[in-house]
Amino acid sequence: MLNSFLSQITKLLCLAVLIFNSCVAEAQINSESTLAPIRFLITFDDGPSGAIRNNPTEKVLAALAHNSIQSDIKVIFFNQTRAARGGGTKAGHPLLKREYDEGHLLAFHTSTVHHANHRFLPPDEFELSLQNGVADLTEAAGVAPQLVRPPFWNFDARTLDAYHRHGLQMLLTDLSANDGVIWGVNWSWHKHSNLLKQLTATRQDWMAGVMPVVNGVTPIVVTFHDVNSYTARNVDVYLNILLQVARELHMPVSEKPFYDDREELKNAALARTISDANSKFHLPGFWDWLWK
Ligand SMILES: [Zn+2]
Repeated sequence: MLNSFLSQITKLLCLAVLIFNSCVAEAQINSESTLAPIRFLITFDDGPSGAIRNNPTEKVLAALAHNSIQSDIKVIFFNQTRAARGGGTKAGHPLLKREYDEGHLLAFHTSTVHHANHRFLPPDEFELSLQNGVADLTEAAGVAPQLVRPPFWNFDARTLDAYHRHGLQMLLTDLSANDGVIWGVNWSWHKHSNLLKQLTATRQDWMAGVMPVVNGVTPIVVTFHDVNSYTARNVDVYLNILLQVARELHMPVSEKPFYDDREELKNAALARTISDANSKFHLPGFWDWLWK
């Protein structure tokens, strides 16, 4: 008798737990479904490459035009317009115009010979680099650039103010492929886990509804480096991983997972820019620790 009674109580408790769990799951799905779907806003830093053979920037352009997910993806290239082994070479410089002609957006990274930290440049050199960079990109595209990304993700109120005086808004990133520095072996073992970890962090802001929605989607900014030949060979793989990690985190992706229109891409990027050095922002990995 007692056993039968306990068994009934146990069943009732199990039922209550099941109902509670399904209610929680349903509430979670409902709150996610009211949020705008995401769209990946792809950016490339440090190019164009000056390689004469197997140019990685050219490979990236080809992969964006034809890949297994979405044809004719448009991206933002944060260029080094006069880099010693890139934008400043005979092979590299014409790629600026080619990027624009293929529908992408040109943006400023450096116009110095090296990957100079804007904060540590003497003020007159920094000013000259802004003038030269804007002039180079305007010459290549026929229109002035509107976006800048600081080398080494390093900026302060002074450099930010200088960007603004030159008509440039600063775009940071949500996800980084961490492919900017090549440590001897040009290979990435952590493509999936790295992007999953970073999208998990970004998801908190998306869930909180604090990320801007532009044309019905939430742009998620992703950073690669087109001078990295491993990245250039694996663009298709990376694009697939982005969709995979979004699925794993139950983040609905827009019907078009990536941008395919330069104007729409620009407006989405401008909505994600940081205009105040004191506002809350996040830098990828090591840089967040170093500069904060
Ligand atoms: Zn860079």
